[in-house]
Amino acid sequence: MPPLSNRIGLFTESVIRKMTRIASAYNAVNLSQGFPDFDPPQQLLLALKKASTCGPHQYAVTWGAPNFREALARKQSRFMGLDIDPETQICVTCGSTEAMMTAMMTVCNPGDKVIVFSPFYENYGADAILSGALPIYVPLSPPDFSFDVEELTRAFQQRPKALILCNPSNPTGKVFTENELKLIADLADRYDTFVITDEVYEHIVYSPNKHVYFASLPGMFERTISCSSLSKTYSITGWRLGYLIAPAKIIDGARKVHDFLTVGAPAPLQEAAVTALNFPDRYYERLQELYTGKRDFFIKGLDEAGLEYTKPQGAYYVMVDISEFECPSDTVFCEWLARVVGVAAVPGSSFFKEDVGHLIRLHFAKKQETLADALERLSHLRSLAEKGIN
Ligand code: GLN
Repeated sequence: MPPLSNRIGLFTESVIRKMTRIASAYNAVNLSQGFPDFDPPQQLLLALKKASTCGPHQYAVTWGAPNFREALARKQSRFMGLDIDPETQICVTCGSTEAMMTAMMTVCNPGDKVIVFSPFYENYGADAILSGALPIYVPLSPPDFSFDVEELTRAFQQRPKALILCNPSNPTGKVFTENELKLIADLADRYDTFVITDEVYEHIVYSPNKHVYFASLPGMFERTISCSSLSKTYSITGWRLGYLIAPAKIIDGARKVHDFLTVGAPAPLQEAAVTALNFPDRYYERLQELYTGKRDFFIKGLDEAGLEYTKPQGAYYVMVDISEFECPSDTVFCEWLARVVGVAAVPGSSFFKEDVGHLIRLHFAKKQETLADALERLSHLRSLAEKGIN
């Protein structure tokens, strides 16, 4: 057989998805790959049922069905404080995973540099490789995951084409403050850099923290490609509905990339999802309350188990510090945790560029009983660890 491409040798399979397979092999409570185990809103399921009988079942417009784009533009304009044009400023994609890849391929030439905060959601590394971009990593330092302005400035001095901003952040649970975002905006402006955002947790933010859309900062819409999805907001990670919002000229380019990558997101699912995009503000308030309850319940359990962690400000992940345990690596720890304790987590090292091996990521987008089960198992962690972790 002739050799396969060089690029596939440059990255490994997703550790997050691998941990899901390990979770099922050991029958562990899967708190690794972040997705809910509860149903989407009933109204949305009814709309899906209707779409199954009434259609559409053929291709939608490649960059998104008109009614989906119109509903999305209304909703995002309301939350982002912008006036988004559904005709020219939106491209609907197969999840934000495709949105991010499309954004990278739209703005980057091979060899262009891209700033990535570390720790980072693992897709960005592969996105950079697949688009030929070279990441410049800027650390977000635990436990509070803040960045050093000098270090960020030095990264911008290398003249990157874009900066990737995951806010609220996966895996850290950090919500960037308006001040931090303004610092980034000033640098992006000074060095004429695109900002590609991943804002899939835009509606999962814990008071008093607030989500500020980067594109809504003065002068930033012109250089921002806002990527997000319906996955987390409506508990439909399997529907694969995502999008990019940006000025028309960027979207024009993105639509071409998207068309040849996937043609389009599923038409019946776009049709059904219009119902969700039309939900009133109360839906988002309830979502916030739901996740605040889950976060508080989960971290209380971590406290009771005597574990150290960084309190999440947003998203549904928590980074737990395992440095007190004697163990060869976070990967060994996570395998042991799934096999012996019965809870699956993601080794923190898969998110860091730096050599950080003392953190693991757990998520709490689960039913109360699932979280209670996981916490009960975690309450035995310490005594089980005394027998040795291997
Ligand atoms: N965003 C989720 C996570 O970080 C799921 C990722 C995925 O598998 N697409 O766990």
